[in-house]
Amino acid sequence: MQGNLSRRRLKDGPGIERPEPRASARADAAMSGMGPGTPGFARDYCPMRDYGEGEHGQAAVSPWHPERDTGKLLLAHATRKTPSKMRRLGGFHMQDITEHLVELIKSASTDLGPDVQNALSTAVETEEKDSAAQGALLTILDNVEMSRKTGRPICQDTGTPIFYVWYPVGVSQLQIRKQVKAAVRIATEKTYLRPNAVEALSGKNSGDNTGEDFPTIHFDEWEHDYVKVGLMLKGGGSENCGAQYSVPSQDFPAARDITGVRKAVLDAACKAQGLGCAPGILGVGIGGDRATSMIKAKEQLFRRLTDSNEDAELDAMEKRLHREINELGIGPMGFGGKTTVLGVKMAQLHRVPASFFVSIAYMCWADRRKLLTIKNGSVTIEAP
Ligand code: SF4
Repeated sequence: MQGNLSRRRLKDGPGIERPEPRASARADAAMSGMGPGTPGFARDYCPMRDYGEGEHGQAAVSPWHPERDTGKLLLAHATRKTPSKMRRLGGFHMQDITEHLVELIKSASTDLGPDVQNALSTAVETEEKDSAAQGALLTILDNVEMSRKTGRPICQDTGTPIFYVWYPVGVSQLQIRKQVKAAVRIATEKTYLRPNAVEALSGKNSGDNTGEDFPTIHFDEWEHDYVKVGLMLKGGGSENCGAQYSVPSQDFPAARDITGVRKAVLDAACKAQGLGCAPGILGVGIGGDRATSMIKAKEQLFRRLTDSNEDAELDAMEKRLHREINELGIGPMGFGGKTTVLGVKMAQLHRVPASFFVSIAYMCWADRRKLLTIKNGSVTIEAP
């Protein structure tokens, strides 16, 4: 979670500030023999070195869409026939989906997707043997297995539940919203979720994870005759590491092009060091307004880590940033190492000529997201 944010000027980065690693990370690093000045320790690295040149952008569509083939990794418990109590609305059999939403929450909270787990396993091999980085990754993987086995949350911070609902004509948003809230209450009772919803100013906990615009629900009507619900559990520590830049930025020289985007992402990755439980995954939204840009950035976190961007320029930049951020040496939990991020996923939106936003949604290693599909009377929960 977030630690102190005492900042200092970078010696090699004009106008760029970065945080000191959190106190606990410093302490842990010291215990493991690492510290400022030790090769590989995050503080010795800064992306504001040789940026090189990027190429100019072209229009692209988001490579992630709920209709995209998601690999059909079915969870054993999750395919079943729907109850018969249905009522016909338009072309879709409207039903109470509360129980399926509870299963979706449980699955997201306790069962890490295979793409993330595989990336973490690969990272273990990449890190130096017996290093703090390798130890952190092995502990994470133990934790992942234990959660799956016991049906307990992968992390104590089950975060903000963020739902995306795609639905056909005739489905009532009001009904779905009620069912989502009911499912969240049940999941909280069953301890799949920690009660996380507190009133903004008083800090008073509602006790059941519901409140003003909590959980977050995005609705999108589509032309298909079935319902799909995506759920992402966004931990607070990772959410705090998100960033948004209005380019050209006062923080660093940048133009409104792909090079400016790259500088913004590198700056955000550098500032997140020691925070947000690395290795993380970065979703990047380019363009739009402030709100749509960040929503697009978060949507990218649903993409499978192994996918490719349909836009060749963005695909090349995703791979380049993945490599460059890992060269910063921040490493798992900020202990130093070769694995700072597991992936970078980007998309762009149209914008007004006066604005150029780059939004970065940071997701920690506990990258909890799942998809529920209700189609032709059957229910499937799967990882992206
Ligand atoms: S793993 Fe993620 S959700 Fe858990 S404490 Fe770290 S940042 Fe928060």
